Amino acid sequence: MSQFPVRDGELLIGGIPLSRLAERVGRTPFYAYDRQLLTERVAALRAALPPSVKVHYAMKANPMPALVGHLARLVDGIDVASAGELKIALDAGADPHEISFAGPGKQQSELRQAVAAGILINVESFREVAELAAISVASGLPARVAVRVNPDFELKSSGMKMGGGAKQFGVDAEQVPALLDEIGCAGLVFEGFHLFAGSQNLKPEAIIDAQQKSFDLACRLAESAPSPVRFLNLGGGFGIPYFPGEQPLSLAAIGDNLARIAERAASELPATELVIELGRYLVGEAGIYVTRIVDRKVSREHTFLVTDGGLHHHLSASGNFGQVIRKNYPVAVGNRMPSDETACETVSVVGPLCTPLDLLADHMALPVTRTGDLVVVFQSGAYGFTASPQAFLGHPACVEVLV
Ligand SMILES: *Cc1c(COP(=O)(O)O)cnc(C)c1O
Repeated sequence: MSQFPVRDGELLIGGIPLSRLAERVGRTPFYAYDRQLLTERVAALRAALPPSVKVHYAMKANPMPALVGHLARLVDGIDVASAGELKIALDAGADPHEISFAGPGKQQSELRQAVAAGILINVESFREVAELAAISVASGLPARVAVRVNPDFELKSSGMKMGGGAKQFGVDAEQVPALLDEIGCAGLVFEGFHLFAGSQNLKPEAIIDAQQKSFDLACRLAESAPSPVRFLNLGGGFGIPYFPGEQPLSLAAIGDNLARIAERAASELPATELVIELGRYLVGEAGIYVTRIVDRKVSREHTFLVTDGGLHHHLSASGNFGQVIRKNYPVAVGNRMPSDETACETVSVVGPLCTPLDLLADHMALPVTRTGDLVVVFQSGAYGFTASPQAFLGHPACVEVLV
């Protein structure tokens, strides 16, 4: 994982050798996120995209407040999916005008908070429009809304499909004209559309296809809108490589295609701001999970390294967060980064939980270790800490640091 340099056999996080960082943190396990890598990631992305396309951070990927605070200064907006995330985004200093709120079951209390905050609400049902109409009358603040559309197509080759077919997300494209009528009648401030076809895609042609179809669909739906479209969120789905053989997503063709869409938007949907929303692509590669080896056991000739961390902190690395076939995340021993002469052995890295699901690396070649060494799981900046069942089995919670 070349994004983190190595010096004297130690992985460097934010320029700090891992053992020293572990001392500084004071305990293991922990997550560490590298500020500089986050900054560089956003810069590289912007360099590949047309300047008119806005970049939002979908903060469910990693809602650590310090990280959101760092990213809020780099991106154009934050997408939240609960009132809890909204609080973090507002605390981080994000401009409410550039915060949007999606999610299939927004409760009345959350909608009231969102209206009071002045953020954009991506409505996902007729009920939400009716609730917002009542809230707007009662508060005197007309709700700002966009319609989250469940498109009539799917994102091909996607790790997780979130649009097309029957879905709990958004409103089916064929029902959107009726919903737009209700938004107009209720006097809500209509601002545009939100389409999100899916996640973790490493095929530029699939992302291009989805963005193209999303734009065409938005143009068709705009004909039924109560006012001009000002905001069009084309989704994201940009993936990162997790497993052997996966290549980083190439942005060049996606950027070219977005430039063509931006040109079309200038004539077909004038005054519309184009937005893409990315979660893991912005943060996933900037983070590691660090555990300490507490035991080494040989069972019938297979070696297990037992660590103080596992599934309860990092469900996705254990293979239990949406994977169909379990594969190993990239793993290293961060205080024994290998050189050509390093002696390696094949081991499995497990956690302390009483379940065979608690597996961080299965039959992997790693340098020969000792108790106390630090096992690192890469690609851990997204869907780690908050996407894991930390209370399971009652071990201590882990720590997060931004370095
Ligand atoms: C989860 C989610 C995202 C972020 O997905 P990533 O794969 O992390 O980029 C973006 N938008 C919506 C609507 C989501 O639900």
